[in-house]
Amino acid sequence: KRREKIDAWTGPAHTKDGHHVQLLANVQDGEAAKRAAATAAEGVGLFRTELCFLGTQQEPSIDTQAEEYGQVLAAFEGKKVVVRTLDSGSDKPVPFATLKDEPNPSLGVRGIRTQMINPYLFGHQLDAIKQAADATNADAWVMCPMISTLPEAREVTQQIHARGLRAGIMVEVPSTALLIDQFMEEVDFVSIGTNDLTQYVMAADRLSAELASFTTPWQPAVLALMAKVAKSGEHFDKPVGVCGEAAADPLLACVLVGMGMNSLSMASGAIAAVGAALAEVTLEECQAAARAVVSAFDAEQARNTAKAILGVS
Ligand code: PEP
Ligand code: MG
Repeated sequence: KRREKIDAWTGPAHTKDGHHVQLLANVQDGEAAKRAAATAAEGVGLFRTELCFLGTQQEPSIDTQAEEYGQVLAAFEGKKVVVRTLDSGSDKPVPFATLKDEPNPSLGVRGIRTQMINPYLFGHQLDAIKQAADATNADAWVMCPMISTLPEAREVTQQIHARGLRAGIMVEVPSTALLIDQFMEEVDFVSIGTNDLTQYVMAADRLSAELASFTTPWQPAVLALMAKVAKSGEHFDKPVGVCGEAAADPLLACVLVGMGMNSLSMASGAIAAVGAALAEVTLEECQAAARAVVSAFDAEQARNTAKAILGVS
């Protein structure tokens, strides 16, 4: 029965009472973008550019980078594509942009920190994104990973705006979620990376199977921080999305919509299941679930509470 509903679902996504939710795809290259474009994805919410260069020893030229990014932008003519600047280091080491032998790489020089140490790298990547955006018709948004301080947010925004592009940050470090109102003043949009936000809030390695009960985004502390970020986005009238794995869980997706998220980005294979789940619930039910989960005792109770209110599995 559920399978039939998923197969029959066609986008764009709306709740039962007609509230629109932008469902976007997470992609890593042109091929994945083409596959995503064949689904109901309304655009790309997370283009992980570092995955284009995992085996690359030397920084690619601006033209080479522009060619790579252009393939993704071209697959979504006229649509929103959020290009994330290199999130190198930790679980995604890019040879030309990662320090070797860090004792604790997930707490080390990763994401925007790599690019701040080598400012040319960041500028070159922005030039390449600009070049690719100008050569295609996609609506390119630029987003920076691992932002943890306000000066970083101000600096990247200034550099992205200097190229005439929209500037955003990922909210995946607790310091940024805690001071989200001040960050909202600095940027055009934010997107929550639940994989890292959960890892850093719970102090539990996202790759550890033993710690899976800690690294679930159903942890009430993670839910409360996400709700805070969504509320701030509503207050400042700036787009707030979720692009971590949490967005691909149909039940949690409904809760996130209830918190006030504008877009959810996920592996394109998950879009139909999330769209079909949203079609079964009203915005008011999503909001009731969002209010209830933040006071749950633990992750399991949060999930069960949401399930009881929404009836989605
Ligand atoms: C995240 O941290 O949730 C995220 C979307 O980024 P990545 O998984 O690439 O670190
Ligand atoms: Mg991340």
